[in-house]
Amino acid sequence: MGLTVEERAALATAYSAALSYRSNLPHQPVRPSVGLDEAVARFRQPLSETGEPAPQVISGITAGADGALHAMTAPGFFGYVLGGSHPVGVAADALVSAWGQNAGSASETPAITGMERTLCDWLVDLFGLPQGTGAGLVTGASAANFSGVLAARHALLAAQGWDVEQDGLIGAPAIPVLIGAEAHSAVSAALRYSGLGAGRARRVATDDQGRIDPADFAEKLAQCEAPPLVILQAGQINTGAFDPFEALIAQVHARGGWVHVDGAFGLWAAAVPELAHLCAGVARADSWAVDLHKGLSAPFDAGVVLVRDRAALVAAMSARGAYLPSRNDDWEPSDSTPELSRRARGVPSYAILRHLGRSGLSALILRHHQLAARIACTVAAEPGLTVLNDVVFNQVALCCGAGAEGDRQTEAVLREVQARGRVYPSHGVWRGRQIIRISVSGYATQAEHADLAAHEIITAWRGLHAG
Ligand SMILES: *Cc1c(COP(=O)(O)O)cnc(C)c1O
Repeated sequence: MGLTVEERAALATAYSAALSYRSNLPHQPVRPSVGLDEAVARFRQPLSETGEPAPQVISGITAGADGALHAMTAPGFFGYVLGGSHPVGVAADALVSAWGQNAGSASETPAITGMERTLCDWLVDLFGLPQGTGAGLVTGASAANFSGVLAARHALLAAQGWDVEQDGLIGAPAIPVLIGAEAHSAVSAALRYSGLGAGRARRVATDDQGRIDPADFAEKLAQCEAPPLVILQAGQINTGAFDPFEALIAQVHARGGWVHVDGAFGLWAAAVPELAHLCAGVARADSWAVDLHKGLSAPFDAGVVLVRDRAALVAAMSARGAYLPSRNDDWEPSDSTPELSRRARGVPSYAILRHLGRSGLSALILRHHQLAARIACTVAAEPGLTVLNDVVFNQVALCCGAGAEGDRQTEAVLREVQARGRVYPSHGVWRGRQIIRISVSGYATQAEHADLAAHEIITAWRGLHAG
């Protein structure tokens, strides 16, 4: 059965609202003009007894959202680390919803499997990972870190003669866990969810950029009473810094341990010749988590877990129990993710990569770095403003003045910049200082937007003194 007139009108209304939203974006303030309470009040209504016509629901949603959306896809959005939902990905995402494929099953959804397998092959190749690396398309780096930790848990316990999927963790041999002092909160979450315990992880000291200190690492590694799980980082959230993979990974492997890399946004550097040095040695790790909705600007929510030993990922994830793939082309998507049913979330990323090509992707990620460096350079030239990090990648951590007074000034400048609504950096805390954090990670951000960001910050800073 096709569409009723009413259903067709609902789809047409939505597609045309999407087009006009994205077309008008450059003329809108980046931050919402409507507050949370008002936005909630707009939508909070009693569920009607008889329902509403479909097109009216869609126009009601667009009217209610007017002014209450954050322009996260705009080129002036520098908050957190978010991509910008690339229009080619958004277009493909519309098809994903319309097709309504349950992508958990390969044989039931051949076209999706074709695209998602190709996407995973491309990613393994772009990141320089070993052939045959297993991949699971998940919701983001949190789920990817969680999945990588479960694969590690499986392998490390199996090596000690313990079947964790069958017998659980109660009574299991211990797995020592090492993480950096500046690991992302998603890493702690993965340890909590996996039963390894966030509080049991031993935190390795880091330097002023948040990189693991090799001497403290060697000491903590020597204290491990069994082959450990070590979680390294490609891209520290405040500084963008990368751990020294080459040296650390070799030591872990010498002790029979497993290295997982949280590369949520940083692993993309491996795909760029000019930046690949940041990821030197990262391919020797055992598993990696990366976001598609950050560096690649895929629509939310999309990330991927990559595991060198695909069998470990499948053993940890497959809902089919003690199932192991017998053939390498035996690719069942749900065997590599915590979900059984899921949307075809790899398709938008497939479309974006197909659109960009190898050099387009490389140019995109390199531009993120160059624009971040450009902002840092302009801001650092202003007396009283300090860039706290070496801008090796796409993150800039800056602060105003000094001490507690400086922290208040930093907060005031950030509030002012956000309120002006032309660009949107976000906040953070780095080494005891309040910071303004700038992330250049959207597909649309260009030099003019970077210059505007620097200008807005400097203007607010000068205004603070004038006022
Ligand atoms: C964003 C991020 C995460 C969490 O990823 P989500 O996609 O938000 O789940 C984990 N680690 C790092 C370093 C990140 O930047």
